[in-house]
Amino acid sequence: MGKTEQTLNDITHWIAGSRVAGTAARTGEVFNPATGEVSGLVRLADAATVDAAVRAAKKAFPAWADTPALRRARVLFRFKELLEKHHDELARLITIEHGKVFDDAKGEVVRGIEVVEFATGIPHLLKGEYSEQVSTGIDQFSLRQPLGVCAGITPFNFPCMVPMWMFPIALAAGNTFVLKPSERDPSPSLLMAELLKQAGLPDGVFNVVHGDKVAVDALLHHPDVAAVSFVGSTPIARYIHDEGGRHGKRVQALGGAKNHMVVMPDADLDQAVDALIGSAYGSAGERCMAISVAVAVGRVADELVQRLAPRVKALKVGDGLDKSSEMGPLVTAQHHAKVKGYVDLGVEEGAQLVVDGRGLKVPGRERGFFLGGCLFDRVQPSMRIYKEEIFGPVLSVVRVPDFASAVDLVNAHEYGNGVALFSADGNTAREFVRRIQVGMVGVNVPIPVPMAFYSFGGWKRSLFGDTHAYGMEGVRFYTKYKAVLQRWPGSIAKGAEFVMPTAK
Ligand code: NAD
Repeated sequence: MGKTEQTLNDITHWIAGSRVAGTAARTGEVFNPATGEVSGLVRLADAATVDAAVRAAKKAFPAWADTPALRRARVLFRFKELLEKHHDELARLITIEHGKVFDDAKGEVVRGIEVVEFATGIPHLLKGEYSEQVSTGIDQFSLRQPLGVCAGITPFNFPCMVPMWMFPIALAAGNTFVLKPSERDPSPSLLMAELLKQAGLPDGVFNVVHGDKVAVDALLHHPDVAAVSFVGSTPIARYIHDEGGRHGKRVQALGGAKNHMVVMPDADLDQAVDALIGSAYGSAGERCMAISVAVAVGRVADELVQRLAPRVKALKVGDGLDKSSEMGPLVTAQHHAKVKGYVDLGVEEGAQLVVDGRGLKVPGRERGFFLGGCLFDRVQPSMRIYKEEIFGPVLSVVRVPDFASAVDLVNAHEYGNGVALFSADGNTAREFVRRIQVGMVGVNVPIPVPMAFYSFGGWKRSLFGDTHAYGMEGVRFYTKYKAVLQRWPGSIAKGAEFVMPTAK
């Protein structure tokens, strides 16, 4: 620990437009994963601090909901410009707390900006339906209205992008928001809060509380929180869904993943290998859409493994701020130990460890949480390294005889977030898209993250709740549908009606 308490960043909450210390004495250490040093202390909110944030959001709600959608959109236009102006600053904050390489961090910010761009179209997106003369003198219309105070609880692996899957659309639709980001890389959310304020967002409309389970539970149990969006691991997603539901909240909870890439014998192997290297080892495998299983179909397996092995060994692993690094460290020492434990387990389970990254040392960064790329061959579906999410730079190759067994293998897995097929055959691709039980599918595209004007979400134990994130699903999640039947005095027939009204 190279820094003294005095030089550490004090990472506060953001409530009603200002940085706030909160009432709790508890703090958590935030690390620079490349150096292993503590860089800041994040305040961990108690229920009283969460209550202060929710009250600020509740107070701000009526005026914000009444602000015309066009004016709300204009705040987001200015926010987008500020995000672009502070792009490098945001990316740097991500790299020094998460560890991913700087250009990857920049890419994450871009994917967040794209959701802001989508949300600026909110006047159009909120348009309802209208039918005249549904009965004599009666018209029907529908509209969508905001829910109130919405909460977002987000994971460590995309500290800018995942919050931006949520709040731009929630705010555009007229809600106010309380964000509880990951306590492991909390700083980017504070910069985003400041930029929203600079963009003209009224105080209290967007708030940030840092914390752990205590803060999450306070949000889940708070009577004034109308809806909760969650992204994180499956056990916590399940908990948020059930506990939030029990407390009457609308909940969308996105969970973990085990993403397969099926490589057919007719695939372009150069492209397939490039795709596997980028999608399995980019961001050190800490992506919910990372490929962690390569399904080698038929005769392709030997050559695939032979081509992958030297590429995995040659990965340039280092500090994410070093321009030459392709892969950074893992987020914490604890997570490093967990991922390394899975590699040990795979060896015990009898998988063939073709490339072992466990001994890697990065010169000058000996205390960083680095793990070299690891590659397993001959992984069996019964092994825990196949069944469980590892969330690190570990790729497992499973060999199957044919296309049908590849589809069965993917469909039998408990997760269904993303999947990819590499093949040159259109009919194989078409069959794959139709039969596969996964929410996001790539055909010769390894990480098929939907664009902001589509929606993101997995199937099976990768998502709990009815709506996917952002896009039109996001607009629906953050609004209530209202159906109105209307007539005016001139057309009202005289006398009470005692039968079910029908069209007249
Ligand atoms: P996590 O589940 O540990 O934490 C997510 C959030 O929940 C954090 O804000 C954390 O503070 C909070 N939390 C943690 N433990 C809690 C508890 N016991 N009770 C209440 N709240 C708790 O996830 P993580 O390690 O930050 O992120 C990695 C996970 O997120 C992986 O499983 C990854 O697949 C998943 N993820 C999924 C998606 C997706 O879209 N499906 C996207 C990104 C990440």
